[in-house]
Amino acid sequence: MAQAFATPTPPTFVLTSSFDDATTDDKAVLGGKGAGLVTMTRNGLRVPPGYVLSTACCHAYLANGSLPTGLIDEVLLRLAELEAQSGKTFGAGPTPLLLSVRSGAPVSMPGMMDTVLNLGLNRPAAIALAAMTNDTRFMADVLFRFHAMYAEIVLDALDVPNRSELDGILERLGEDTDPAKVYDTVWGYCQARLADMGEETVPNEPKEQLLRAIEAVFRSWNTRRAITYRELHRISHEMGTAVVVQSMVFGNLDSRSGSGVVFSRDPVTGEPGLFGEFLAASQGEDVVAGIRTPDPIAALCEILPEAFADLKSTVARLETLNQDVLDIEFTVEQGVLYFLQVRSAKRTAPAAIRIATDFLDEGSTSDFAVLHMLSVDQVRQVQRPGFDPAEVQDARDQGRLIAAGIGASPGQVSGVLCLDPDRAEALAKTGVRVILARQITSPTDLHGMIAADGIVTATGGATSHAAVVARALGKSSVVGCSDISIDPNQAALCVGDLVIHEGDPISLDGTTGEVFAGRLTLTRPAAADDQLERLLGLSSRLSSVDVHARATTVEQVAQARQSGLTGVVAAAADVLATSPRFSEVLASLRVPQDEASSFAVLEDVLAEQFTPLFAAAGEMEFGIRAIDFLIDEISDVVDSTTIAVEYPHLAMPLGSIELIRAQLRGIARALTALGSSSRVNLSVRNISDPAEARALRRIRDELDAPARLDLGLYITSPRGALSAEELGQEIEIVWVELRLLQAAMFGLPAEHLLTREPLDRYSSRGLISVNPRESIDSSVEPLLDAVARIIGQKDGVRVGIRVSGAVSEGLMAALYRKGFRRFAVDSDEVAPARLALGKAISAKPVHANS
Ligand code: ADP
Ligand code: MG
Repeated sequence: MAQAFATPTPPTFVLTSSFDDATTDDKAVLGGKGAGLVTMTRNGLRVPPGYVLSTACCHAYLANGSLPTGLIDEVLLRLAELEAQSGKTFGAGPTPLLLSVRSGAPVSMPGMMDTVLNLGLNRPAAIALAAMTNDTRFMADVLFRFHAMYAEIVLDALDVPNRSELDGILERLGEDTDPAKVYDTVWGYCQARLADMGEETVPNEPKEQLLRAIEAVFRSWNTRRAITYRELHRISHEMGTAVVVQSMVFGNLDSRSGSGVVFSRDPVTGEPGLFGEFLAASQGEDVVAGIRTPDPIAALCEILPEAFADLKSTVARLETLNQDVLDIEFTVEQGVLYFLQVRSAKRTAPAAIRIATDFLDEGSTSDFAVLHMLSVDQVRQVQRPGFDPAEVQDARDQGRLIAAGIGASPGQVSGVLCLDPDRAEALAKTGVRVILARQITSPTDLHGMIAADGIVTATGGATSHAAVVARALGKSSVVGCSDISIDPNQAALCVGDLVIHEGDPISLDGTTGEVFAGRLTLTRPAAADDQLERLLGLSSRLSSVDVHARATTVEQVAQARQSGLTGVVAAAADVLATSPRFSEVLASLRVPQDEASSFAVLEDVLAEQFTPLFAAAGEMEFGIRAIDFLIDEISDVVDSTTIAVEYPHLAMPLGSIELIRAQLRGIARALTALGSSSRVNLSVRNISDPAEARALRRIRDELDAPARLDLGLYITSPRGALSAEELGQEIEIVWVELRLLQAAMFGLPAEHLLTREPLDRYSSRGLISVNPRESIDSSVEPLLDAVARIIGQKDGVRVGIRVSGAVSEGLMAALYRKGFRRFAVDSDEVAPARLALGKAISAKPVHANS
């Protein structure tokens, strides 16, 4: 599986660091929580003192199954320092030192690992705590909390007492509040309860408590929930967690105490101003445990206005310091505010856009840094409506996930089921959203496919007609749902016993390939389009690259133009496949004995189809990929196997010069008809030899075509990439197709790179170390470098790279670093690509806590 984070190799082999003398704030070493506490301490915030055991200690513990002796010594040495620093004593009075032992990985895994609070209570410490606070009940509360938490987390006890049991014990004690007696009764009760259940009891010795709690927190790196979370979020299992050992502060001490969480801005809407919750007279875990419901943060302002004012100003300062929106845990002890945790706030996509725009307006951060406040996933989320995740979960729970096929064209859609293209067209005209379901589709279904919002087929793969046309039209589609059958007599779609009739609601997810019975609500996060456009505009200005959108339809071309793109790329085969005359074209190609006449139909239809596309393109550069019978992503549609068998020469890049001339003529006719001024090129795929490139140039020179019609080539093979320099000598337009290069290096069918399956599952089984859908394999690097070397080498050479499918930030950054400045991406991926490229020009600004 591609790891989002490389295994950290700590720059310095740090075992432990105290908050105030740490020599690093590297999250890989200290964990996010530890690093945050270190930076807050450094910046003079009130943080209860403590120290961090680095992730290196976790690696050592997990490898040995025990804490190395050297580490134990260091932990105890740090403890002595902490005692000196705090003026408190561990396991004794007059002022006992109580600790929290907290997990904290390099990336935030909220709630996935364990924490033990109130640690360090033996008999003398408990008695001293009661004396010091003059509050035996408080001591009993802390003791009881500690015992339960330790039993659960360190001893893995299956059942721990409920806090209401404490009330019973204290009631039985009546008026007697002698601390020693209270300690003995509560401790005795809790220990006996564990023993009765056959569980190990809690050690009395505070140092043993501490060491065992540290071990338990390290172990919690490998709990089932932590592992599942990491798999889901693609976090490396190698990273390990750090442990924070920190002096306790008590939010449960009295009514002038409490615990809370604040965000520096609203994480849902992005609105400025503190947003969060506070619970008076509580420890932080009370909120999580759900015993009491916290109040809005304004409550703090009423109860403890000074602490609130302090919180407000400090949070603002922290935000400026970190140049990010923050999520902060704090505790107030007797009116004094302490900071316990700071991290970058998780936020919705609309909030991320609002926040980035506000940061820009406030001038509180650089243009570069602002781009890093937004992710390509967030851009995708606000662009395309999607199902409410909770509703999808409900649908699954209710057994409404009825089938899964190949996710052939992304997007989530709901509509009414329709099994016939004519009826689909008629229904769509009345404004109804239609999902067209067919056994397979053919060119005669085209009008129904255009009318539908989504397309499902029972058979066919990622290169079937339905898949190809759906991608070309930008419609969501699931193909090859082998579990469903279409029954035209009943006008129904059947899955086992389940029957969905025409007119019934149905939903599909063209990314995952799932089909649901019933309707799922589509929502588009309410992000301000103009704010997003402003950020993308900034990104494009900073990166100054050309992003060309893959386009097949007039709408897609128009949209690209509206977004201010400098170009579009279309595939002749896709454009033909969306013509009602496509069958005619195919039939004519299957009789190439009389080449001139067979290509005449092709020429005609091309002229017809491209005229409106050029009109929509205006001044934009328009690249057309020549028809290709070796083609993989449309092979079923053009029946390329048959063609390759019967007319093998057609499957060679320049096997039929006449085929290329016919396309040039068709395109030239469309251009002339329009008197259009756009700059158009026809680029031939699978070119790997300079001789081919020379032949191409001759074709162009011999043809009497408008001057603004160029010929170019697509590199799809390792040989082509390695010959890039010579190819570039012959011709001005060079595109390289990343997907095909990757597939060629793996020896896999390139169509496997079009859909999530089978590759994603294959790579998650650990059978290939790089998923070529997500990252560039090292074997492909030198090929891309060879192509990138010709960028800017000769006047007028235009070198671009075609990236199919979902773009990732890592991939775009890698290509940018190689020198690529012209990109062609799927029309849905234009905005994510623009952002990714802006981010690529500057590494993420490093803040310890983001
Ligand atoms: P998580 O990683 O699950 O957020 P934490 O280590 O932050 O776990 O601990 C959970 C809660 O325990 C904190 O939100 C805070 O309320 C409480 N806590 C942790 N350390 C201390 C401390 N030193 N003093 C008081 N409360 C603490
Ligand atoms: Mg926390």
